[in-house]
Amino acid sequence: MKNLRDFSHKDLLELMKEFGEKPYRAEQIFRWVFQRRAASIDQMTDISKAFRERLKEEYSIAGNRVLDVRRSSDGTRKFLSELEDSSRIESVLIAEGDRLTLCVSSQAGCAMGCKFCMTGMGGFTRNLTLAELAGQVFSAFELLEGEERVTNVVLMGMGEPLANYDNVLKFTNVLTSGMGFNFSRNKVTLSTAGLVPAIRRFGQEGDVNLAVSLNATTDEVRDRIMPVNRKYPIEELMAELRRYPLKSRKYITIEYVLIGGLNDTDEDARRLARLLRAIPCKVNLIPFNEFPGSPFKGPAPERVERFHYIVKQSGYTVIVRLSKGGEIQAACGQLRGAYEG
Ligand code: SAH
Ligand code: SF4
Repeated sequence: MKNLRDFSHKDLLELMKEFGEKPYRAEQIFRWVFQRRAASIDQMTDISKAFRERLKEEYSIAGNRVLDVRRSSDGTRKFLSELEDSSRIESVLIAEGDRLTLCVSSQAGCAMGCKFCMTGMGGFTRNLTLAELAGQVFSAFELLEGEERVTNVVLMGMGEPLANYDNVLKFTNVLTSGMGFNFSRNKVTLSTAGLVPAIRRFGQEGDVNLAVSLNATTDEVRDRIMPVNRKYPIEELMAELRRYPLKSRKYITIEYVLIGGLNDTDEDARRLARLLRAIPCKVNLIPFNEFPGSPFKGPAPERVERFHYIVKQSGYTVIVRLSKGGEIQAACGQLRGAYEG
C-alpha cells in the first residue's frame, strides 16, 4: 500500500494523469489529506465512489504510531513515534507564552556525528518520508488541549534536514501551502549543521526561515566537534550565508551551543561578532545540555551572561535559549536517548 501522505500536490498531479483523472482531483485529494486531515479515502466524499474504490486498491492514509507521550510541568510535551520499520523518532511541543512550537525530526538518527549531540552519537538509520514528517504534525494535533494551536514549526529534532533534502522541501511546502497546513512562512524554521551546497539550493527553492548551527568560531574547534566542518569550513559557510537570498525572510538565525571551557570565552564572543558581520542574523545562544556519557560540560552562568553581553554590544540581537522541558529530557540534541538501553 502506498501512503497518500507521501504525495506532494505535484506528485498527485502526476498520479491523476496516470489514472486518467482531471488535474483538479489532485487538489481535492491534497486538501483532504493535509488540510481536512482525512483518516481514510472513504472520507473523500466529493470524489466518486468508483474512483475511491480504484484508489483504495493501492493507496491508503497512514500515520505514525505514537508509543509514548511525556509531559513536563511547563506545558512541554515530548512524543515518541514508531515507524513502519520500527525506527523510533521523537518530536516535541514547546509551550512558551502564546507560542506553541512543534519541533520535528527529519531523520531517524543523524549521520553528521556532532560530538556534543546525543542524536549524532547514536548514528544514522534513515531519512524520513514526507508521510513520516507530516505524521509528526498530525500526531501533535491529536495532543492539543482546549483552544491550543500549533503556532510555529521548527525542523530541529533528530537529524540533519538538508541531508534529507527532497522530502524536507516537500514537507516545508506542505507546511506553508494554503491547501495544506497553511503555516505562515516566517513561522517555520529549518536548522542545518552547515551543508553548504544544500544551503545554496534551499536559498533558491525553499521559502521558510533558515537557522545555522555554528557552535564554534575557529576551524580548529569546529573540526573537533562538528565533522561537517572539515568539508565545509567556517569561512566557506559564512561566504554562503553572506550571499543567501533572504526574500521575505528578514534574517538567518545563528545557533551557538555554549560548551563550558571549549567555545565560551570572551575571545570567542568577539570572534563570533566578527564572523557574522554582513550577515543579517539573530543569534541564539544555547547552553549545552549535559547528557550521560558526554565529555562536555555546560557553561558557567556568568560565562553565558558575559558572552551574551559581548555579542549584544557588537550590535546583534541575541537571545539565550533556555531549556524547556528539562525534566522530560526534551532539550535539543537529547532526544531518543532516554528510551534506549
Ligand atoms: N541537525 C540540525 C538540526 C537538529 S539539532 C542542526 O544541527 O542544526 C538542533 C540544535 O540542537 C542544533 O543547533 C544543535 O547544535 C543543538 N544541540 C545538539 N545537541 C545539543 C546539546 N547537547 N545541548 C544543546 N544544544 C544541542
Ligand atoms: Fe545531527 Fe544536528 Fe545533532 Fe549535528 S547537532 S549530529 S547535525 S542532529
